[in-house]
Amino acid sequence: MIDAFLKAGKEKSLARHHPWVFSGAVDKVSAEPQPGETVRIRSHGGAVLGLAAYSPKSQIRARVWTFDARLSIDARFFADRIAQSIGRRRKHLPGMGMRLVHGESDGLPGLIVDRYGDTLVAQFLSTGAEKWRGEIADALQEATGLTDIYERSDADVRQLEGLAPRSGPLRGAPPESAHIEEHGIRMSVDIANGHKTGFYLDQSENRRIVRDLAAARPGMEALNCFCYTGGFSLSLLAGGAGHVTSIDSSGPALEIAHANVQANGLDHKRAEWREDDVFNALRDMRNTGRSFDLIVLDPPKFAPTPASVERAARAYKDINLLGFKLLKPGGRLVTFSCSGGVSADLFQKIVAGAALDAGIDALIEQRLSGAADHPVRLAFPEGEYLKGLILRRD
Ligand code: SAH
Repeated sequence: MIDAFLKAGKEKSLARHHPWVFSGAVDKVSAEPQPGETVRIRSHGGAVLGLAAYSPKSQIRARVWTFDARLSIDARFFADRIAQSIGRRRKHLPGMGMRLVHGESDGLPGLIVDRYGDTLVAQFLSTGAEKWRGEIADALQEATGLTDIYERSDADVRQLEGLAPRSGPLRGAPPESAHIEEHGIRMSVDIANGHKTGFYLDQSENRRIVRDLAAARPGMEALNCFCYTGGFSLSLLAGGAGHVTSIDSSGPALEIAHANVQANGLDHKRAEWREDDVFNALRDMRNTGRSFDLIVLDPPKFAPTPASVERAARAYKDINLLGFKLLKPGGRLVTFSCSGGVSADLFQKIVAGAALDAGIDALIEQRLSGAADHPVRLAFPEGEYLKGLILRRD
């Protein structure tokens, strides 16, 4: 096996069981590994630190499969890891949507697997996951007893690994769309063309919380910004909101949202959909004197890379400032960031700055995070990308 030696002192993060080896930490490699090939990571002094998938083009030069170098990386290894991932989740109930594998947090760097009813949707986002794609597909079929797997390896991060996008059926005859049941709400999932694997499962628990907020104040006027296929909108309507305005720039997402209202037998007169840029729409609403009892802000990742954090901070501030200005006294702002580079602490500071500029005092009622099927490994804090706040205007 090829050995990758680290520079002196660069073994510290691996010693803490963080799975990433950055290109700048590698001193020399004993031969030239193929993309995804398993290499032995050694400290400068030669101590074996773990086995990792090598990625010659990526800044993240290697991702550790295991810190126990006695293991072999083979089909059995992936079968075990996948069985463990599924085993640590709660039981899948019929029709449910659930993340089964959450990358690094589940000890499988670069692999995402979501289950929608009886269809699996997989993303292979690193050279390591790509190399073992066949074995991983076998293991997924074996562990779940399901035959249908759709592949959505078309995320931008593949480029950083030097991998071309790939999307389509991987095993069996997977459908291009599915229906799932979320807290009693039927949601349509566009597996073939939707965002990510088709649905934002990470917000599942938070949508239930928002539904409860709507139920506690029947007839409320609500606004859902960046609504995608209407997850939070449906939760608000089902909870008893009187009227929900939802905004997204994606026409196809709004079409599905519309169909979701229909499929749940909810009164479509209570739901208003607006295909627009949220920044524009909020300014517009401000100018026409609109105000709301509850506002959800769930923007896309404004900071996809560490270099974009500063610009992202301004965008988060703008959007929250506009949100605060549209909030009735006593109203609630439910605000999120899914940028890994923006910590919960920084996000709270940005939101505090926005409230101050809006001339509003607010209280933190609850801190929110990703759903339980998106676990965060203590040694890999990057896994905690989703954070949110429920704020009540004083
Ligand atoms: N809250 C949603 C997920 C939101 S994902 C859920 O629970 O399912 C972010 C959404 O923001 C995407 O649907 C994307 O189309 C939309 N979006 C991105 N930039 C936008 C902009 N400037 N204005 C309006 N929508 C935008």
